[in-house]
Amino acid sequence: MDVNRLALDYSASLPMWVLEELVDEPDAYQTDEQKMALVNRLARRNYREGTGGPFAAIVVDSETGELVSAGVNVVLASGLSAAHAEVVALSLAQAAVGGWDLGADAATPREIIVNWRPCVQCYGAVLWSGVTRLVVAGDGPELEHLTGFDEGPMREDWAEQFETRGIAVTEDVLRDEAIAVFREYGEVAAAGEATVYNARAQGALER
Ligand SMILES: [Zn+2]
Repeated sequence: MDVNRLALDYSASLPMWVLEELVDEPDAYQTDEQKMALVNRLARRNYREGTGGPFAAIVVDSETGELVSAGVNVVLASGLSAAHAEVVALSLAQAAVGGWDLGADAATPREIIVNWRPCVQCYGAVLWSGVTRLVVAGDGPELEHLTGFDEGPMREDWAEQFETRGIAVTEDVLRDEAIAVFREYGEVAAAGEATVYNARAQGALER
């Protein structure tokens, strides 16, 4: 075979507009609502910018409240189906701290904040990341109904499974605000004014 046709690496980058959203953020977050407000804002701008779907995630140092990384869904910008917000945020956090285990130092626990319960892919990505806390705006069918994105075959007991593995779960932080972003995206997409990506010919959209 001709090995020269094979790709040898791949990468995904954070869109530069995210930095504009971060410069006026506090040095340290005091509340989950502060963190989720940023996540919802990034999610809304992400689909408007055409980078990817209406999803964002941040990794925060649980002790100090400092931002470790920010991520948005860059499936469209990167051409990578796995480049969901959680994967981007966790990967950038691991790049920042220089290791694959974000929980390697028990004195520096880290958490991920996402604007909905992770999809089936990101469920695994969060499990293996080393974070010790997951904060989500909500859980339930609203996301799929409003946006058309397929979350995959998630377990009913997903939160218990996280807890069993030492990952505390906090739900329903700024839930209404998250739903407002999904509703807005759904309306814009239905009007043909948002870039919609679909990996399967007749299937639902991949988050
Ligand atoms: Zn995902």
